Amino acid sequence: MAGPIQTEAVVLRAMKYGEADRILHVFTPDHGRRSVIARGARRPKSKLGGRLEPPSHVELQLHEGRGDIATVTGVSTIAALPRLRERLDSIDAATLACDDVGRLFGDDEPHPPIFHLLVNYLGQLDRDLDASRPERQLSFRLKLLLGAGLAPQLGACARCGSPGPLVAFSGEEGGLLCGQCSPPRGFAIDPALPDAMRGAIGSPLAAAPTMAARVGRQFDRALTDLAEHHLGTKLRSLRIDERRRRDAPPAPAVEPTA
Ligand SMILES: [Zn+2]
Repeated sequence: MAGPIQTEAVVLRAMKYGEADRILHVFTPDHGRRSVIARGARRPKSKLGGRLEPPSHVELQLHEGRGDIATVTGVSTIAALPRLRERLDSIDAATLACDDVGRLFGDDEPHPPIFHLLVNYLGQLDRDLDASRPERQLSFRLKLLLGAGLAPQLGACARCGSPGPLVAFSGEEGGLLCGQCSPPRGFAIDPALPDAMRGAIGSPLAAAPTMAARVGRQFDRALTDLAEHHLGTKLRSLRIDERRRRDAPPAPAVEPTA
């Protein structure tokens, strides 16, 4: 890429740079993850600044000079996602989704399906209060791994091919394991985990099947182990508990006075 470029993008991350600039990590359909610089974006009157807050979905005009980082010359908003930004659990889920995409997909590789999956999920997080629930986050993350070419073995033991019963999951072996192959490999699973993972693969993101928190934590561990062993990528663990963080945190409890 050289000279002027126009592209759709999702702003994954924004960092302060110099006096008034921002360096942005953006994800584009045809050029994957890119670093760009928005000069003057932190000045109060900047036309760029407010439109480039993660996780905005924007149309970017870029100029690529001799250096390896393109300069943002114009931006228009495609989706500002205002409701997403009002809820802490939606912000957490969007931040993690952007972090995953940035870690799993490298620079200058075209990934249109991953771009559309990310835009779809951000749209759900804006419209739908349930989109930040663990099952939706896990389903998104699993679909990202599939898009990265990593399909876990869920139909039979990943090591010996036995149909089961399947009692453990090993990221290193790439899927579920039978009782002969585990232990020592993998971690013991709840019997509901295989169906939860197969259900997430077989359902659209918006219809991700629900599961108990215990199963969700194992699902998350399975995905982080897979990504670490096969892609060399450390994904952040999801926070999966029974409580939801939907709105601003409650005021701290007043300590009783003795
Ligand atoms: Zn086996």
